Amino acid sequence: MVSDHRIIGRRLLLSVAGVTLLSAATACGSSPSGQDPSAGAGPAAKAVNVPSPALAPLPSASPPSASPPSAAPSSGAPQPAAPPVGSAAPSAAAARRNAAAPLFSLASDDKLVALTIDDGPDPVYTPAVLSILERYGVRATFFLVGENAVNRSALVREIARQGHHLANHTWSHPDLRHLSEAQVRDELERTSDLLHTATGKPATWFRAPGGDWSDVALRVSNELGMRPMGWSVDPVDWARPGTSRITTRVLDAIRPGSIVLNHDGGGDRSQTIAALKTYLPVLIDEGYRFTAPA
Ligand SMILES: [Zn+2]
Repeated sequence: MVSDHRIIGRRLLLSVAGVTLLSAATACGSSPSGQDPSAGAGPAAKAVNVPSPALAPLPSASPPSASPPSAAPSSGAPQPAAPPVGSAAPSAAAARRNAAAPLFSLASDDKLVALTIDDGPDPVYTPAVLSILERYGVRATFFLVGENAVNRSALVREIARQGHHLANHTWSHPDLRHLSEAQVRDELERTSDLLHTATGKPATWFRAPGGDWSDVALRVSNELGMRPMGWSVDPVDWARPGTSRITTRVLDAIRPGSIVLNHDGGGDRSQTIAALKTYLPVLIDEGYRFTAPA
């Protein structure tokens, strides 16, 4: 069962003293680099090869030495994976915080990766992405912004109808680190409600805008029944560096278990569209398979 794997994963993480799982490494919109600390480069986490649709995405335990490269603006600081010093056993709060550690990569030694598409839906670019994904038989996770989705329920349903996962990327794409808990809750809850209403299914994944996680956002998303997902491959497509550069960045960085970040909203995404058309068939030829984590 998925839950068993997750429990095992958490225990594994708790047993690795000093491991810091996460950092809000990059932004889908503000960071120049994009690699998160678990970027798939180091020794991978436990190899758990679960067949595609039933994949249990375990948190990837970064090696203890893997300190976040660009991490950690103060208020969006990484979450400790270990229980607080001085407590005999993990407190409920610590357990909850640990449970909410973002997933930066899939635990897989196979060429299994996840494609995530942020900031839509967009009336032009989202259908273009859907068409490419359909052509190549790729399932993806779409992190939708509530205010972009609110008047596009047909498009939201179409994404789900094509077998992709819909996930919560807040209502208005703010920097959550600067909001009160009530404001964070409102951002997440409104979006979850919208997605649930549109598709009949609750959102199970949440991504902080810019990857700028905060304690409050992790806790509130957990309370709302969502798990946080980061990424390990960021071609910085939102900055429109050119189609070939987006393509090269993905192809150079991808490895088994990668979570790839692309964007279909927030601006002109024609370069992203062109890059997807280029790199997806290359990766498929190389034996990569794509999953949308359950
Ligand atoms: Zn975003």
